[in-house]
Amino acid sequence: MNLLLKGGRVIDPSQNLDETGDLLIEKGKIVKKGTDLMPTFTAKDLEVINLAGRVVVPGLIDIHTHLREPGFEYKETIATGSEAALAGGFTTLACMPNTNPVNDNRSVTEFIRGQAAACGLVHIYPIAAITLKSAGDALTEFWDLKEAGAVGLSDDGKPVMNAALMRRALEYAASLDLPVIAHCEDRNLSAGGVMHEGFVSTEVGLAGIPSLAEDVMVSRDLLLAEYTGAPLHIAHVSTAGAVRLIREAKARGVPVTAETAPHYFTLTDEAVRSYDTNAKVYPPLRSAVDAAAIRNGLKDGTLDAIACDHAPHGRTDKEVEFDYAASGLSGLETSLALSLALVHEGFLTLPELIDKMTLQPARILRLPQGTLTAGADADITVIDLDRTWEVDRTLFRSRGRNTPFHGQTLRGKAVLTIVGGAIRYRDF
Ligand SMILES: [Zn+2]
Repeated sequence: MNLLLKGGRVIDPSQNLDETGDLLIEKGKIVKKGTDLMPTFTAKDLEVINLAGRVVVPGLIDIHTHLREPGFEYKETIATGSEAALAGGFTTLACMPNTNPVNDNRSVTEFIRGQAAACGLVHIYPIAAITLKSAGDALTEFWDLKEAGAVGLSDDGKPVMNAALMRRALEYAASLDLPVIAHCEDRNLSAGGVMHEGFVSTEVGLAGIPSLAEDVMVSRDLLLAEYTGAPLHIAHVSTAGAVRLIREAKARGVPVTAETAPHYFTLTDEAVRSYDTNAKVYPPLRSAVDAAAIRNGLKDGTLDAIACDHAPHGRTDKEVEFDYAASGLSGLETSLALSLALVHEGFLTLPELIDKMTLQPARILRLPQGTLTAGADADITVIDLDRTWEVDRTLFRSRGRNTPFHGQTLRGKAVLTIVGGAIRYRDF
């Protein structure tokens, strides 16, 4: 439990820190940072790890993960999702409520927390549903859910179509300081679609989902947040229009935060041309114009965080015709490397990227993680920026092998993942 991490480049956006040095960890806590630190422990109580040339950051946080338990354990379990998280450099997850049963009451929230505690690999925070069964008809018991340990509310996968109900949800949640995470989609505009509506959908003959379906709902939810003054977090932003709307709303002082996922700045609807169901995600992969807008939104801070939207599925969900395939990709094990591409390209600085994967996610859900300050739990990820590796889905720790990146060579990897001072993953 006592570690001395020597000579790495330590980046901690919570302290505006980016310098080479050592980090001393005692009894699971970060004790201090410095240069040429000498431990107070004898050698047998202490492991010294030389990290010269590597990057030491707060453990990555994913605020948009589908762990599938309870109900869909063939897709993922809390244990397999935790293993995938560790391999991807994540030490904290917040999991979406679209399990079976839906996490719309305290017994499900408590079950998830119990399973997470029994597994004990990473920190897992449940996000509970806004409406019963996420059906969009009646609000859940927000106070009860918060007391049971829910850190946010979302009907992710489905929008709350009723604007009056969404208004009440925002007002009620704000009074409890529980963030509402909006899945922005106008179901009437998206109905029947399976991919982005555009040139490619016309060519390949698949029904389209217009970017308008997202933009209209982002617009509505921003207006609701502005009117109520209640904080709103927008999940998986995929369109140029949504980025523009959020940027304008932030400039007006609307209390909104937003996330995107790596596939929205890495891929476009061209990936669907081959009818690869692994490229079927929700919202769909958009145009090159949208992907460029997402990047710019990350750069200027319109998009606060990068989340995985880790959505593991089984073979039977994906090895079917495109129209019938489940949406989503298994993202925990590729998210960091895909995001590091923005740094390798010189588009974001490394501290800017780490901020969007540690401090900002923690702030959005008011979590204590995401910092390397003295006294904090020693949740730490060590990154080898230049390690190249081939994505091999057969080696995924996640049960979800559904990735459109199989066979691709990526650059950058988590090589050491530490949770509460314990080494949970090591790859060097
Ligand atoms: Zn999702």
